Amino acid sequence: MMTEKIIIFDSTLRDGEQTPGAKLNEEEKLKIAKQLARLNVDVIECGFPISSPGDFKAVQRIAKEVKGPIITALGRALKPDIDAVWEAIKAAERPRIHTFLSSSPIHMQYQLRKDPETVLNMGVEAVKYAKKYTDDVQYSLMDATRSELDYLCRVVEAVIAAGATVVNIPDTVGYAVPEQFGELIQQIMNRVPNIDKAVISVHCHNDLGLAVANSLVAVQNGARQVECNINGIGERAGNAALEEIVVALTIRSDYFQNYHHQVNTKEIYKTSRLVSSLMGIPIPVNKAVIGTNAFVHSSGIHQDGVLKHTETYEIINAELIGGKAGQMMLTARSGRHAVRHQLQELGFTLHDTEFEEFFARFLELADKKKEVYREDLEALMNENMTHTASIYSLEYLQTVSGSKSIPAAVVKLKKDDEIFVETETGAGPIDAAYNAIDKITGFKPRLEKYNLRGVTEGRDALGEVSITLEYQDKTIIGRGTSTDIIEASVRAYLNGINKLLAQRSNDAR
Ligand code: MN
Repeated sequence: MMTEKIIIFDSTLRDGEQTPGAKLNEEEKLKIAKQLARLNVDVIECGFPISSPGDFKAVQRIAKEVKGPIITALGRALKPDIDAVWEAIKAAERPRIHTFLSSSPIHMQYQLRKDPETVLNMGVEAVKYAKKYTDDVQYSLMDATRSELDYLCRVVEAVIAAGATVVNIPDTVGYAVPEQFGELIQQIMNRVPNIDKAVISVHCHNDLGLAVANSLVAVQNGARQVECNINGIGERAGNAALEEIVVALTIRSDYFQNYHHQVNTKEIYKTSRLVSSLMGIPIPVNKAVIGTNAFVHSSGIHQDGVLKHTETYEIINAELIGGKAGQMMLTARSGRHAVRHQLQELGFTLHDTEFEEFFARFLELADKKKEVYREDLEALMNENMTHTASIYSLEYLQTVSGSKSIPAAVVKLKKDDEIFVETETGAGPIDAAYNAIDKITGFKPRLEKYNLRGVTEGRDALGEVSITLEYQDKTIIGRGTSTDIIEASVRAYLNGINKLLAQRSNDAR
């Protein structure tokens, strides 16, 4: 039987990057885009070129270097935006211009302050303008789910007539519920006379926890492109999770029997971990498909069942997503080859100098901890991956604390070839160390959140600290790991400060 292909459109690097604190630099974006190509998504949306010179450059680089998927970027339905999109993506093998405008009364009245006819004409003009550059033009009707159906259908018809090859119906504010959303898609399919000239796409947000359900019901009603993000990241509560949609289509192919996708599911685990590491957004343990508990059975009855026959309580096999096939463990004697191999398994390919630095930290850890698990390597990488942007590095740390002493810290940092040493006191050893670092760097970011977790079990486990810093309206996530939680806290703080510095030089470009 011929099945219809569902086009997987990944927006991790555009909508996903709008997650607070998840700002990436050019190298990091390129790494993710290359991994998305290995995952074999159909379309990569990698930025909003007119928003900043840094974003423009990153999109341009991805368009030049990433082969395979269609490369697209977003811009409003305005000529300068479309010019910027085209300039940034034109070097791609298969470039697509993606442009949008709101279609809901509330957006048109209060945000655009334009009447519906003007908005419709702007959309048509934008598509015609984009069409001069390339044949592949996608138009999105922002806030479609809160728009009037008649108007929605008129806009869809008009932009298709103007040449749009893909028309996206986004649930921008995450307002839709499945049955209603399915009906909306069906109405559009039935009422728009030239609908067969374009692919209908959906873009669902998760404000009500329904993004994946809404996307799947849209597929059953005629949508053939689904926009989604790795780990479900994105504005506010995030977007539909790519891995959940793909795995649902795969595992329930009995139900979704008329459709297929071309994603290489074995790359899901790697991609998910890479995005989490680079963006500094941890994956909740109970997250569907990729959370660490997704394949753990704890109830006695469930354990008994799984031991007798896996499928009694497990519908997804970890191997489907390239997840752990047996626990791997490294020791101080494992050697470079084994460590490099395990990193590759986790989706990390390092240059020689990067690897040597990583290996030194691995040995340091293996000396303290004896057994190093893949979770430990991932935690170390979370810190290491942002190293390209590293400006300050930790050379030496000594702290004093105790019930009767005044907490104090001596911190030695290195920047380029310069060494800085400062001593400070504080409310506790971490506060003291942070005060010493502030003295050196001249920053004094506000500590918004502090989280400590044990990466594995046992008293010698690595502690991973993730902190949220706020500095001049910017929110930055810093992560650090060590078997010493004070050192981990200091590394997280430095990681955050280095990201802040990297962002500043990015914005200045
Ligand atoms: Mn969105």
